[in-house]
Amino acid sequence: MLNYEYQLEEILDISGVDIGRCMKCGRCSASCPSYDEMEHRPHQFITYLARGDVAALLESDALWQCLACFSCVQRCPRDVKPANLIEAVRLAAIRPKGAEFLTVEEVEAKFAPDMPQQLLVAAFRKYMR
Ligand code: SF4
Ligand code: SF4
Repeated sequence: MLNYEYQLEEILDISGVDIGRCMKCGRCSASCPSYDEMEHRPHQFITYLARGDVAALLESDALWQCLACFSCVQRCPRDVKPANLIEAVRLAAIRPKGAEFLTVEEVEAKFAPDMPQQLLVAAFRKYMR
């Protein structure tokens, strides 16, 4: 059984994000190129974490649909950095599984041909030692 309270603290600590600064304007999500694909949009990551609902994010495919383009970070008028938060939630999902839980070949097989190379490079960084 995962300790979500501990994970919430860890996510906030790793990301350095102060979710209390978010004014829920939605500009981060409006600028997100993955908006249509993401079950939970950037501003919703903040809402879920403010509620303490880490489980909903850890189980969501939205975690893996973020391209790490940082558009949401640039557009945020309150310097909240939603991408940093998403990256920290990814780490919280990956770490309990061990660093080698996917091979490079398995990661590559999960990619559609039209996915951006930036996402592939980011995935290699995450899954390779
Ligand atoms: S970093 Fe991720 S969440 Fe932020 S705008 Fe880019 S794809 Fe969307
Ligand atoms: S742009 Fe910034 S302040 Fe607005 S909803 Fe997104 S994180 Fe919150």
